[in-house]
Amino acid sequence: MSDTYARSNLAAIDAAHHLHPFSDMKKLNADGARIIQRGEGVYIWDAKGKKYLDGFAGLWCVNIGYGRHEIADAVARQMKELPYYNTFFGTTTTPATLLSEKVVSHAGPHLNHVFFTASGSEANDTWFRMARVYWAAVGKPSKKIVIARKNGYHGSTVAGASLGGMKYMHEQGDLPIPGIVHIDQPYWYGEGGDLSPDEFGLKVARQLEEKIDELGEENVAAFVAEPVQGAGGVIIPPNTYWPEIQRICKARNILLVADEVICGFGRLGEWFGHQHFGVEPDLAPVAKGLSSGYLPVGGVLVSDRVADVLINDVGDFNHGFTYSGHPVCATAALENLRILEDERLVERVRDNIGPYFARAWGALGDHDLVGEAVSIGLMGALQLAADKKTRMRFEKPDAVGALVRNHALANGLVLRATGDRMLASPPLVITHEEVDEMIRITRIALDSAW
Ligand code: PLP
Repeated sequence: MSDTYARSNLAAIDAAHHLHPFSDMKKLNADGARIIQRGEGVYIWDAKGKKYLDGFAGLWCVNIGYGRHEIADAVARQMKELPYYNTFFGTTTTPATLLSEKVVSHAGPHLNHVFFTASGSEANDTWFRMARVYWAAVGKPSKKIVIARKNGYHGSTVAGASLGGMKYMHEQGDLPIPGIVHIDQPYWYGEGGDLSPDEFGLKVARQLEEKIDELGEENVAAFVAEPVQGAGGVIIPPNTYWPEIQRICKARNILLVADEVICGFGRLGEWFGHQHFGVEPDLAPVAKGLSSGYLPVGGVLVSDRVADVLINDVGDFNHGFTYSGHPVCATAALENLRILEDERLVERVRDNIGPYFARAWGALGDHDLVGEAVSIGLMGALQLAADKKTRMRFEKPDAVGALVRNHALANGLVLRATGDRMLASPPLVITHEEVDEMIRITRIALDSAW
């Protein structure tokens, strides 16, 4: 690190000036932020030199792992050649154009177009407007309402946070905005009662049909959900869920939006979550794994059905961001996708490390503190429970989750706690030995919290 940045009083500077996202600022200023300074593979190091295995890949995004100099080199070349130009008003750049071809080549065969953004939140705002513009252009302007899910996460912009179903976000800023309603999530462990997972999957999927009937099909534009709900707690839907959702969207003529911001680019062992579940979305916001977080880049994958109308009937979609298709970010994404392809990292999740992780993570289900240990690809959750036989939860779920997370951190492992669910989402390059290390430390954290 250069001397310019090697400041001994970083924590004090941070406390004085830096307002952090999703952080209890009073507590943070008292404790001092953890300052992360270096990364290599699945490991990161903080300013005090402590090493952690990053079991969360940053924020579900560092799919190719840290320290890939190929990306740094490609980005440096592009920076020197052309650091910026826009994709507005009839122009584009070579990296943005090449990325459009590359990114759709991995999606379902009907998703042949992409609209670039700089983040997942912007991607969700983008399809929200696009869906309404689409329906207006095909002569159904009353189709405006979007049905989303409780406990879903679609970002922090006004539309993104409204589409999301996080109560604690809605409480700040008077959200959701009008025209967005929420139905239940397919969270069998917490909300399935006496139903089998398959029965419960059908029941919650059919809430979509009931909600469309209540609102009137002529008023509903779209349904949005994450293939596997991430921030809400790695809620893996029962097998019956997605086929029923797909059937209802087709039968009722509403657009299906799969938020692929986490699931996209290999996390579930397919390029996209919709492929894993055999679903054909009309729109699919992406970000995170598109560049493995090396630079901010996102987008919306757009089906031929919607793109044909946008191109031929709408013509000018009055929407876009200064950084839509940013050439340096697009270069980072292209290089990231090349690495995912060349090293067959997606296939590796499906055939090798995903099944290994599933066995190792699943074995944590024998711990007294764990009600269920579930995973899909390289995404896992441990449901903490006060009584695993009766599925009884702790009185203070947030406190028990935080306790396990802090014990993991103290022992050199980053896990995330969402209430009483412990979440894991390591880089796709994680080795068998590193998975073993993750599990060993997680077990220590569970033992220490018990
Ligand atoms: N959608 C999903 C499913 C996400 O998990 C996230 C971020 O975690 C977003 C959207 C928002 O993406 P961003 O933070 O890049 O705006």
